Amino acid sequence: MTHASTRPPPGSRVFSGMQPSGEAHLGNYLGALRQWAAMQDDYDCIYCIVDQHAITGRYDAAALPGAVFDLAISFLASGLDPERSIIFVQSDVPEHTELSWLFNSVAPIGDLERMIQFKEKSERMESVPVGLLNYPVLQAADILIYRADVVPVGEDQRQHLELTRDIARKWNARFGKYLPEPQAYIPRAGRIVGLDGRSKMSKSLGNTVGILDEPDEIRRRVRTAVTDPARIRKTDPGRPEVCNVYSLHEHFADEERLDDIAHQCRTAQRGCVQCKGMLAEEIDEAFAPMREVAAHYRAHPEEVRRILDDGAQRAGAIARETMAEVRSRMGLDWKRTARALTEETES
Ligand code: SF4
Repeated sequence: MTHASTRPPPGSRVFSGMQPSGEAHLGNYLGALRQWAAMQDDYDCIYCIVDQHAITGRYDAAALPGAVFDLAISFLASGLDPERSIIFVQSDVPEHTELSWLFNSVAPIGDLERMIQFKEKSERMESVPVGLLNYPVLQAADILIYRADVVPVGEDQRQHLELTRDIARKWNARFGKYLPEPQAYIPRAGRIVGLDGRSKMSKSLGNTVGILDEPDEIRRRVRTAVTDPARIRKTDPGRPEVCNVYSLHEHFADEERLDDIAHQCRTAQRGCVQCKGMLAEEIDEAFAPMREVAAHYRAHPEEVRRILDDGAQRAGAIARETMAEVRSRMGLDWKRTARALTEETES
């Protein structure tokens, strides 16, 4: 897998998307949104709420629009800036699904069936929808329609991005070189383990903290965090290197504080309850400004609508340009031939 181990060259076009499952959580923030916001200074960023991906599993149609709106607020609260980035909703730019259909002509079914996420999810289903199999093809369309150079992704999306590169290669070989092969950029944050100390952070597993949760809720949730399993009594020395609470401290505390936490843990001078209280405080402090921004947008939903509409316009302009070229190369522009023949007849 080719991926950028260092930051990509400034000016590169960056695309990334997130499924709407309501307000973002700590894992979304540490693993994606924080990096997305930081990339805005140096890159041409396009960030998308991928609602059409959300319908490939079981979902509540009545709740989906609200979940899109809540995620848009989380995007803005996390520092995504509509002046510097394009922020939009996937279904507002219908060219994504059109390109996805066209890619079906080059995407190999065997590769789709080998995708780890497809295998894991389909195993639990009685009847597997085609959309679940085709999910990475739509993902390829999301990225390639903007001819993105770089895609910040989590480890679990690496395989899908490799498929995107493969689709671009196959399409270019068949219809002429036009689509770039985007690079994966895996931010340093890596895999953010949930408060249960086992699974990836996820709202449905209840092992995370919402980025817009109130301080009491943050404290309540952090209290449930699993620590060093060998530390049974407060007087037992702990091992920060195996403790998930410590790895979360690493995202928020400075070096001096981290040294103190590690030392107090190893020498059993501080108990886990107190240590988790400190983590809750760090998270609360980091998230307080985001709650303020979110409160502003909640009070002004028309601003959110305007931002997303404007984002869809700007994204749509790029998407339409790509599609005109793609359709033409794929022989889907019969009107152009008809126009040329008409002109010939008239001249
Ligand atoms: Fe983890 Fe902190 Fe407990 Fe040490 S004191 S095991 S770092 S929660």
